[in-house]
Amino acid sequence: MPIHVSDLSRRRFLLHGSAGAAGLAFLSGARDAVAADRVADPNLFAWLSDTHIPESDQIEARGVNMTANLRQVVGELRSLETRPSGVLINGDCAYLKGLPGDYANLAACLAPLAEAGFPLHLTMGNHDDRGPLYDALSDQRPDDPPIESKHVSLIESPHANLFLLDSLREVNVVTGELGQQQLRWLAAALDAHADKPAVIIAHHNPQFEPPAANRPWSGMLDTDDLFEVLTSRDHVKAVVFGHTHRWTVGEHQGIHLINLPPVAYVFADAMPNGWVSARMRPDGIDLELRTIDANHSRSGERVTLAWR
Ligand SMILES: [Zn+2]
Repeated sequence: MPIHVSDLSRRRFLLHGSAGAAGLAFLSGARDAVAADRVADPNLFAWLSDTHIPESDQIEARGVNMTANLRQVVGELRSLETRPSGVLINGDCAYLKGLPGDYANLAACLAPLAEAGFPLHLTMGNHDDRGPLYDALSDQRPDDPPIESKHVSLIESPHANLFLLDSLREVNVVTGELGQQQLRWLAAALDAHADKPAVIIAHHNPQFEPPAANRPWSGMLDTDDLFEVLTSRDHVKAVVFGHTHRWTVGEHQGIHLINLPPVAYVFADAMPNGWVSARMRPDGIDLELRTIDANHSRSGERVTLAWR
């Protein structure tokens, strides 16, 4: 059984919240009574990506203060009437190089979620570094990692299992890669959990075509190997990723491709930044875009997907 399994029973949920998710053990003071007492919907998740948190809350990039954006989202999550049963940051949690100072600021930003007992799950992006991240957010460090030097986990929810993968290949180098060892683990884990729809989550975008000459492979290098594992298993329904800083939803051979927006800056002016509320159904998923700018033209955009 892989590590980091979160069945989302109430009991486990509370345990996870008080002892673990937080992992911010140093913050284990009295938890916020109001936020903690809200009922969590076991089918509801908050999906964030590309927070790019720097060591100083004064640092901006592309006209955006990344710390302020994450603090805003954390405030929104705490004030939700219906609590998500898990909060994900899908990679590029840190600004550029995964520095200890970046993760110290990240931990401070996330402290209000930890105090309120929200289970927190991080994946690794190309701007992350596992060691410094584990040092700052100790709960994220697996006790018994199924894959040496990769950060993977499985979240079980009533209608779907979420497989969190690690596509970090080299810190601060754009290309992503899962590697054969992780793909073998994934295939076995999928086969062991074939009773429910599977949603695959990793930082890098699938890239089916090689880049133009003299350009780096910016997405996942072993995309074809990954999809060989996925398409042959009918219970795999969707792949969720970030990295491109573009909110889009597509499809490949019947598998939905959900590209989360960044919490931090966008690369194209018209694209929204923000996060996505994801509600699992037995036969699909409902997505709702929550933009940083409440007046953005795509604020509140809803996408309903049916499983193949
Ligand atoms: Zn990235």
